Amino acid sequence: DPGAPVRTHVIRIEGDFLAVIAEDLAEEQRLTAMRRDFIANVSHELKTPIAAVGLLAEAVKEAADDPELVREFAASLVKESKRLADLSRDIIQLSEAQSTLRPEQLEHVDLRAVVEDEIDAHESFAERRGVDLVFIDSSTPKRTSAMQGRQSAIASAVANILSNAIRHSPAGASVRVRIAHKKRHFTVTITDAGPGIAPEHLERIFERFYRVDGARSRDDGGTGLGLSIARHSLRAHGGDVTVRSTPGEGSRFTLSFPLSDIPKKKRAKRVKRT
Ligand code: ADP
Repeated sequence: DPGAPVRTHVIRIEGDFLAVIAEDLAEEQRLTAMRRDFIANVSHELKTPIAAVGLLAEAVKEAADDPELVREFAASLVKESKRLADLSRDIIQLSEAQSTLRPEQLEHVDLRAVVEDEIDAHESFAERRGVDLVFIDSSTPKRTSAMQGRQSAIASAVANILSNAIRHSPAGASVRVRIAHKKRHFTVTITDAGPGIAPEHLERIFERFYRVDGARSRDDGGTGLGLSIARHSLRAHGGDVTVRSTPGEGSRFTLSFPLSDIPKKKRAKRVKRT
């Protein structure tokens, strides 16, 4: 009986009790280790840009009579401070994504509208990269595309995966965004013809700060947190994000969202008929 207090359990079956305690401690230790790793990673990621900002500010001061040099240092200063801003934004987003949704945070979200807005918002980025953005609507027009959730979190998950797809695409390639209904879920599939991801990296790309090509991703302005934020957000909403990829051919990310409940009355009728 899962509702019974653990103590009753203890007195009667001692072995079970020991097993329960051991399990809890293992979970506790795992969480502590994860927190420790995360803090170590955060400080490592922050250290470089913080040091760079300090040194560059100093260098600007020293180079005051050389306008060319000042401009060069100032440009690097802008880049490093943007990096710090991106990192702190993503760390905050990740901590929000990892916490359970509170009822007062829930709002009515129209998934079809969110996807269309994100496609519009990425049009100019795709154009600059010479990438063709293709929208395929395979959703069922009569079915709802509404769910309860945090609009900003859902939109940023879609945005993140879409911008990754565009960023990893070669010029002249297409990124396809397809929406569809699947049972009680709404799916968004984002397919690119980029370099793909090797199997040994495939599950790890959702880990915090994991990058396939660390130096390059940092240079591109990536924090290594985007996919981790997207997965935590979607899971907090009862959905998920998964990936399939073939190296040399491209990647396909699938986001799935649980749709709002069908009104109770309708469901009751259905049950009766069967
Ligand atoms: P980043 O900020 O580095 O983009 P993400 O969490 O968004 O961090 O992605 C993690 C890593 O997964 C990236 O560094 C990149 O190597 C890989 N990746 C993500 N999306 C794609 C894609 N569409 N094609 C190829 N590799 C990708």
